[in-house]
Amino acid sequence: MRLFYALVPSEREKRSILRWQEKLERASEAGRYTPSENLHMTLQFLGEIPPERVKALKEILLSVARTCGPFDLALDDYGWFAGKGQERLWYLTGSSPEAAEISDTLGQLLTENGFMVERRAFVPHVTLARRCKLRSNAVPEPAEPVTISVQRLWLMESRQIRGSTVYVPVFHVGLV
Ligand code: ATP
Ligand code: MG
Repeated sequence: MRLFYALVPSEREKRSILRWQEKLERASEAGRYTPSENLHMTLQFLGEIPPERVKALKEILLSVARTCGPFDLALDDYGWFAGKGQERLWYLTGSSPEAAEISDTLGQLLTENGFMVERRAFVPHVTLARRCKLRSNAVPEPAEPVTISVQRLWLMESRQIRGSTVYVPVFHVGLV
């Protein structure tokens, strides 16, 4: 199973995130735009995991949830990762000490439990478009800042279904 830990916005929050995606699309000549149902923020990517290890992953998520309460996450800026040629992965970001802390704590517990973790620094991001190319001289306009009310942490599975990526919730814990 291909797994990752994530934050998942509510339907209403997703609609606000889509305003950023629309502005980006207006400034672009090409891109593969994330469908609304796939909008998320990865906290830790786990990769291919044997199903018998899922129990340990649930326990790790439960431990981390005990270390923090619900919080608001403000997303208010574009960012991008370089791709092939001029193609970029564009995302929505914002500074979030809480999300960074959760990602860190997850990383520590994963390592202690023998899981491989990503060594790159955590960049809070919600992917808006992949393989995106802006029109020459175009700059995407910002939309209204989005506040995500984070009340749950998720363990998600990434599946390929008829050529599309689909994310299936495996487990979640509430923050109190
Ligand atoms: P696709 O690979 O079909 O474009 P995807 O990247 O969204 O879709 P996955 O590759 O399964 O799907 O990744 C699930 C989540 O984990 C995504 O948010 C992705 O950006 C993130 N992710 C994937 N690989 C890594 C990695 N090596 N390090 C950190 N995060 C990753
Ligand atoms: Mg991928």
